[in-house]
Amino acid sequence: MAPTLQAIRGMNDLLPTDTPLWARIEATLRDLLNRYGYQELRVPLLEYTELFKRSIGEVTDIVEKEMYTFTDRNGDSLTLRPEATAGFVRAGIQHGLLHNQIQRLWCTGPMFRYEKPQKGRSRQFHQLNVEAFGLAGPDIDAEMILLTARLWRELGLSGVHLQLNSLGSAESRQAYRNHLISYFETHYHKLDEDSRNRLHRNPLRILDSKNPQMAELIATAPLLLDHLDEQSATHFEGLQSRLDQAGIPYTLNPRLVRGLDYYNRTVFEWVGDHLGAQNTFCGGGRYDGLVAHLGGRSTPGIGFAIGLERLVLMAAACGLDHTSAYTPHAYLIMVGTAAEHQGLALAERLRDQLPTLRLTANCGGGSLKNQFKRADRSGAHYALILGDAELANAQIAVKPLRGSDPQQTLTEAAVVELLRDV
Ligand code: ATP
Ligand code: MG
Repeated sequence: MAPTLQAIRGMNDLLPTDTPLWARIEATLRDLLNRYGYQELRVPLLEYTELFKRSIGEVTDIVEKEMYTFTDRNGDSLTLRPEATAGFVRAGIQHGLLHNQIQRLWCTGPMFRYEKPQKGRSRQFHQLNVEAFGLAGPDIDAEMILLTARLWRELGLSGVHLQLNSLGSAESRQAYRNHLISYFETHYHKLDEDSRNRLHRNPLRILDSKNPQMAELIATAPLLLDHLDEQSATHFEGLQSRLDQAGIPYTLNPRLVRGLDYYNRTVFEWVGDHLGAQNTFCGGGRYDGLVAHLGGRSTPGIGFAIGLERLVLMAAACGLDHTSAYTPHAYLIMVGTAAEHQGLALAERLRDQLPTLRLTANCGGGSLKNQFKRADRSGAHYALILGDAELANAQIAVKPLRGSDPQQTLTEAAVVELLRDV
């Protein structure tokens, strides 16, 4: 026998026992975004490697060590998308969606990063991405955060906490960068290898280090919030005031820098109590320079991404109800050749009249006893039985499978009425 093949490490199957919770969450997301006036934009899974290098930044974990990059048959370097913002901006520029326009956009789908798989961290994972272009003020920052807060409420999540920071303008970041370099230079002997590599290329990245040995040094590093320019400070106050008015609690976290290079001003993360070490399940920020950096005309932008695996873990821990998604209302049993030939047509007539009916028709034959077993296992509320006797009288036998109500024999019209209320 040939050896059995396994899925690639870190690329997980979502089994039929998993997908109802996913589907419930995805339906909630879609509906909520619709209600806030966000439109879906779907971008490809593959882009030129150059796009990610330019947008995410060369000196980042993603570009340095996490991308799935390969050369295609044409000799082009392509990369499976590690995040969606770059593709959004590329598409927005390419199709003229950005300049002098307001766009509220979203997409959902898989992302790919070569990381160490563990709870809440996989190599193929899924994000919901929400982005807004053409709005420079703190109102849209606040709207996005309020939207996420509503989403958590609608999913019944508890133990969620919002962290906020401002990275200031490009100029104030530059000033801060110099403070940071001199601070870390004074403590050079305590830096790990990654941080030494980044010291002069991208010192802010050091603050995002996951190495516990770096934690103490990072904790006493100078704070970006102390170096904010005036306009960024006003912007940040505007955001906080709107959140206060809406009653959304938050913590200021001056060490929040986030993984990607392109952020300015507002950055935020939602962390969850139920997630263990990988506890950030949503993160976002403003990236006013990115569109111009990628060759478009200068357009402000802000967005966030929710890690859906982590959101699903949160929702499961908080007991989100989703169990009935696949449970049929009725299971149609067909006994004998005539019933087998006419049964699927009956099922279609029922579906025509009851558009929300979940009906499983028995396929693959089997004895009455056998089909009853399948009906029972399906979790259906009713078994509908079509046999020679029922066909002869133009009737259908209906057996409730839950509870102790007796079996009845009904006309097709009466069956429709009965199933109308399930
Ligand atoms: P982390 O610090 O956990 O590596 P990140 O800063 O790299 O996260 P972002 O690029 O901001 O993550 O992506 C947004 C969200 O996507 C994260 O908050 C997280 O919920 C999710 N995410 C990121 N990487 C993974 C992964 N490898 N597996 C599962 N979810 C992920
Ligand atoms: Mg990461």
